[in-house]
Amino acid sequence: MIRVAIIGAGMAGLACARRLAQAGVQPVLFDKGRAAGGRVSTRRSDGLQFDHGAQYVTAQGPGFAAVLRELAATGDAAAWLEGSGRARVVGTPDMATLGKAMASGLDVRQGFHVSAIRPADGGWQVLAGDAGLRAARVVITVPAPQVAGLLGAEHPWAARLGAVRMDPCLTLMAGIAAPAPFVTRAAPDDALAWIAQDSAKPGRPTAEVVTWVAQAGPTFSAAHVDDEPAALVARMLPMLCERLGVTSDRVRHATAHRWRYAQVAAPLGVPFLRDAGGSLYLGGDWCLGRRVEDAWTSGTAMADDLLSHALLAQLR
Ligand SMILES: Cc1cc2nc3c(=O)[nH]c(=O)nc-3n(C[C@H](O)[C@H](O)[C@H](O)COP(=O)(O)OP(=O)(O)OC[C@H]3O[C@@H](n4cnc5c(N)ncnc54)[C@H](O)[C@@H]3O)c2cc1C
Repeated sequence: MIRVAIIGAGMAGLACARRLAQAGVQPVLFDKGRAAGGRVSTRRSDGLQFDHGAQYVTAQGPGFAAVLRELAATGDAAAWLEGSGRARVVGTPDMATLGKAMASGLDVRQGFHVSAIRPADGGWQVLAGDAGLRAARVVITVPAPQVAGLLGAEHPWAARLGAVRMDPCLTLMAGIAAPAPFVTRAAPDDALAWIAQDSAKPGRPTAEVVTWVAQAGPTFSAAHVDDEPAALVARMLPMLCERLGVTSDRVRHATAHRWRYAQVAAPLGVPFLRDAGGSLYLGGDWCLGRRVEDAWTSGTAMADDLLSHALLAQLR
């Protein structure tokens, strides 16, 4: 029987696990992806790299600011002075390094797709395909719209989860052999709401082309979220070339990614949900807001709550 199982090794799950580990509790994290970090991630293709999820992180509270300082001290993060004058931090040499560094020393089982979580004697049954394991306590950190698939649509929390809204985000990644006209461009009303020169971030490998990440705004993304990646490239690449003032013959690489649940538009408004017995927790960015720090705050709050309600001897 696992004492504490955490479903999802994004920033919320990792923050929860790190806080528990500091108290001597060793949780087991299960994640369906190939690497820890969730939506803080990096795609590699044709020898190029792109931070295709979170672009950078910021800290408003002292707790997350301390985490970023630690990551900077180990060379896993650095300030990105992209001209906005804001204190933006990126992972080095890529955003995925933030998750990798935070997962260090933790028991993370990647490629483990949880299909259901059901009450069982003395805890919970965590089902993954044909396999199943038992856990005394379960912390779920998957995006809110995916929780119903794990707990069942009849679960008492279904209505509260249904009120959480998460917008999709379509992301174009392009390598272009032409001088860059800017580092970042935020234009919330444009179909391409955000364009960033990925290769201008600190600590990036030298590439023969300039690499760009362009994110469509919520209206465009909602309209095209079911389009195939190739169709998205065909739609979004001409827009990017136009915004950069380059012709399409300069394009050396282009791919697209569909984030169905990218950024929180309507959060829950509390840091997490906990059942009456204190053995099931739900959390993630969607509890508080749309930033990595919100995920970290939710995950940390769940760990603190677990530590204050359960006897340490039961958790270790
Ligand atoms: C395109 C984009 C741009 C963004 N830009 C920024 C930004 O610039 N700055 C910022 O602060 N934030 C940004 N964000 C938001 C930020 O990425 C999120 O707020 C944060 O990463 C959420 O962390 P989380 O742990 O709550 O969720 P996630 O990162 O989604 O983690 C959930 C984890 O659960 C796993 N999982 C899901 N279902 C299952 C299952 N059934 N079984 C097992 N594992 C499962 C997933 O693989 C994932 O690793 C952006 C997000 C996107 C998508």
